[in-house]
Amino acid sequence: MYYTKINQENCIACGLCQIISPALFDFTPDGIAFTRKDENKGIIPVPSEEMDAFRKAYQQCPTGAILRSEEPFERQA
Ligand code: SF4
Repeated sequence: MYYTKINQENCIACGLCQIISPALFDFTPDGIAFTRKDENKGIIPVPSEEMDAFRKAYQQCPTGAILRSEEPFERQA
């Protein structure tokens, strides 16, 4: 199981991840990506049906801004 979030300091607002997986990634008015389901906290696992798209986005992000972990990035309060 994987968790994901965007390192927004490295995101160059290219839009690629949102095209590959609109279910996982959305973007701010400035085009900076964030994870849609958990507001970029990285606490909701990538659903199995999105894993292929997630892998593709993760591999193709030009700046490596998409982070991946087997643990949640933030503990839920
Ligand atoms: S693919 Fe990478 S650089 Fe492009 S919008 Fe997504 S996170 Fe940002």
